[in-house]
Amino acid sequence: MTEEAAKDAGTGFQGLEGYPKLTLLKTKHKEGVKLVRSMSSLKSPWILHFDVGGCNGCPIEILAALTPRYDLERFGVLNKGNPKVADILLVTGTCNAKCLPVLVQLYRQMPEPKVVAAIGSCCCEKGVFDRCYNVRGPLYKVLPVDVYIPGCPPRPGTIIEGVVKALTLWQKKLEGTL
Ligand code: SF4
Repeated sequence: MTEEAAKDAGTGFQGLEGYPKLTLLKTKHKEGVKLVRSMSSLKSPWILHFDVGGCNGCPIEILAALTPRYDLERFGVLNKGNPKVADILLVTGTCNAKCLPVLVQLYRQMPEPKVVAAIGSCCCEKGVFDRCYNVRGPLYKVLPVDVYIPGCPPRPGTIIEGVVKALTLWQKKLEGTL
């Protein structure tokens, strides 16, 4: 139903003038679809976690951050195992030679815009695994890292703070302001 028809029909529909962003819907369908997708995605960014080696301390802390006690999901995020629907990539571990090709493949499968967060000292700067024969990290040598969350392991609160920073960056990318 058009705006005019809606007004004539007495539905009370006042048009889209009060919603500056939504007026785009009236102009170009493609842009409108893109905008609706962006606005809905802002409320439900999904994360993908991948561990590239390490001692498994950091993944446990990520799980702790997702539990109701710390409740990372209160920011609307969901931990998904599918890169094709993920917006934020959380990486933990040493970036060893065996796991890196898989990590790069997962990164490439994620849709744009996307944000990468390096979690833990061994992901951010090799940490205790420095000089190991199979370590190819730190992560920034392999992927463009947006957020660093240091610690061995970082506490759930620190992980939440980092993920919120990643969400802010991702929203800016989504809105085209970054
Ligand atoms: S940063 Fe520390 S806790 Fe985390 S995976 Fe590496 S060694 Fe384990």
